[in-house]
Amino acid sequence: MQVSIDVTDALVFVVGHPVSARRILARYRAAGADAVLLTPDQARMRLNSAETVHSSDAKAGPSSVPPRLIVWVDGDELHRIDLAQQAARLSIWMTREKPAARLPRGHVSLVGGGPGDLGLMTMAGRQALADADVVLFDRLAPTELLSEFAPAAELIDVGKLPGHHAVPQRVIEDIMIEKALLGNEVVRLKGGDPFVFGRGGEEVIACRTNDVPYTVIPGVTSAVAVPAAAGIPLTHREISRAFTVVSGHAPFSDIELGHRAGLGGTLVVLMGVGTLVQLVNGLQRRGMPATMPLAIIEQGYSPQQRTTISTIGGITEKLGHLSVRSPAVIVIGEVVRVASEDPSELCEASGIIRSAAKLAT
Ligand code: SAH
Repeated sequence: MQVSIDVTDALVFVVGHPVSARRILARYRAAGADAVLLTPDQARMRLNSAETVHSSDAKAGPSSVPPRLIVWVDGDELHRIDLAQQAARLSIWMTREKPAARLPRGHVSLVGGGPGDLGLMTMAGRQALADADVVLFDRLAPTELLSEFAPAAELIDVGKLPGHHAVPQRVIEDIMIEKALLGNEVVRLKGGDPFVFGRGGEEVIACRTNDVPYTVIPGVTSAVAVPAAAGIPLTHREISRAFTVVSGHAPFSDIELGHRAGLGGTLVVLMGVGTLVQLVNGLQRRGMPATMPLAIIEQGYSPQQRTTISTIGGITEKLGHLSVRSPAVIVIGEVVRVASEDPSELCEASGIIRSAAKLAT
């Protein structure tokens, strides 16, 4: 059974221990209620004076206004029964909510928020946000509706612009640990997956060093999901049976370029807009054919998503008028053709031999 009542501007008593009731209190306040935290005794006294006013028609003072709703969180069971009887006499709704754990030491959840589309955040990630006291989020994390998903949380923007670290990693870790040691449920929300170029490993080390319990909730990484949004599979039977994800944050060394060029399969580059020209020139120098297909997918899963298809030999001259911007995922490999070409040409180009009969069907 489900009953809903509008609590906007309504007086709501939240009854329980400040720690166990903190998130419930914040949630009612976020919903627009005038929520007050009371002990069972205080709640009983306020209902007593409401009852007196009610039965004697005396003028209601501020502490004798009856609430629209009483939310019982925790306390003595006999007090709860008492309060429920009082509430019933005054026709006030009373409900029960699950108390938050009273942790001596908090907890950190490293949550991968996926590539930007809210639908691609995991249910575990959403649950962690719902339970959070503090959320530290950054630029690529899905922040739309964050205050709705984490209604009880203090939201801290630790966003980093490319090349400009708004909050240094060390400081992020210090805030995260400090908040957790105060007994809070802390969510560190990141774009994609926390362990794919997300510095999640460093945050795990910070938790372990400080003896703070932690959970890692993986996310859908942009390395796989953004190409998928453009219809590009990273593996494809008979075309690519491996993919390598690299960071283009810093220019590639000659040795790295040699390895990348000789790897086969699909190359996926994150943070690679700034080093793209150096990469495609280097790959060609190290033997990759200039005709190797390349795709750039910018701002995946946003209304501005744009896919550019070219080759490693052809992209440089196009860059001038394209003005490619971060965030973008770059895919280099024959799989790009899957999204861009007529399937029969794809088979020929990749040297896949199919029977004429099969192609004709
Ligand atoms: N941990 C993240 C990656 C962080 S590195 C993950 O697993 O997805 C940041 C890089 O990810 C960006 O420079 C870009 O290359 C890529 N990226 C993340 N979100 C993206 C998006 N919505 N569209 C395109 N690229 C994205």
